[in-house]
Amino acid sequence: MQKSIERIAGDSEGVSYEFPVFRFGGTDKAAPSAYLQAALHAGELPGVVAIDALMPMLEKAEAEGRIKGNITIVPQANPIGRAQYHFGEHQGRFHLGTRTNFNRGFPLLAAADVELLPDTTLGTADQRLKSRLLQLSIGHDIVLDLHCDDEGLAYLYVHTSLWPAMADCAAAMGVDAVILWDEDTDGTFEGASITPYLNLPAEVARFDRRVATTVEYRGILDVDGALAGADAEGLYRLLVARGVVLDQALSTPGSLTGPNSFTGPSSFTGFVAPLENIDMMPAPRAGAVLYDVKPGDRVAKGALLATIVHAPGEAGGRTQVFARQAGIILTRRSRRIIRAGEDLLKLVGDSKSADARSGTLED
Ligand SMILES: [Zn+2]
Repeated sequence: MQKSIERIAGDSEGVSYEFPVFRFGGTDKAAPSAYLQAALHAGELPGVVAIDALMPMLEKAEAEGRIKGNITIVPQANPIGRAQYHFGEHQGRFHLGTRTNFNRGFPLLAAADVELLPDTTLGTADQRLKSRLLQLSIGHDIVLDLHCDDEGLAYLYVHTSLWPAMADCAAAMGVDAVILWDEDTDGTFEGASITPYLNLPAEVARFDRRVATTVEYRGILDVDGALAGADAEGLYRLLVARGVVLDQALSTPGSLTGPNSFTGPSSFTGFVAPLENIDMMPAPRAGAVLYDVKPGDRVAKGALLATIVHAPGEAGGRTQVFARQAGIILTRRSRRIIRAGEDLLKLVGDSKSADARSGTLED
């Protein structure tokens, strides 16, 4: 394993940012390669600690000559967002200088060719960071971008071109759900990772061996040793299932036990839904949120989801919010303070949402 340091020039004299990159060299040129990054939204740490738990597994595999494909790992992808604090609160989602989401504005290239990347010399630091991250990832068959939600299930965003071919990955990782999306006009990292292949003939694009996904490792507070270990095992199983790492012990279906046991390509038992089925459920009033549901709950149409206490102590000071359709609660807010119009939760409905938003993934 080799460690190198990437440096991103800041926007003023004396300021620059750096982050480490770890590379494992594969022994088989024909084997698929993998790129993993975490904390593009700099405060989302479940993926960071999962990578920390994964590294010793990969180092052991390397020592035993079992790394087949090249693996590139960026455990903390966003040193710019990492450094942003505003009145004592960490702000890792948007670049304060440009107000741009760190997971938007990636160049959507016509082909997977680093020569096509725009010149960011005169751009802003966040643009330079995005360009560099994409450059590091381009050429890998498997691209995993590890995020987390507010409070939520473990789920994947997957472009429709890669489904159901990626069902083995979802099963290997042990996630609860897969959300399918079909169009990215905003330039998410995942969108930038798959878009260059969408106009290629299928035999060139090789969607059967390609992986690009935004992994939502539950909620922002789910930074936990046991979960990190389980998620690392899930990532490792994916790498084995796709032939990046060789592991005879895992290659036999049913050889593992436990909640993430990998029992074969068709064993994904979570739910799969198109993005258009997500009801974001905006709050009708500002106030304090009392939730009646949590992630993973199945609800019927008309079920009570939450109560907003908007005029405490007054008659009629509570407003209830009901499910527009039957479905499963995917996420909810980690904080209980809300303004009118902000999203209360994500409900994955059994059918298309009445306010279905555009096809871009939501992270
Ligand atoms: Zn995120």
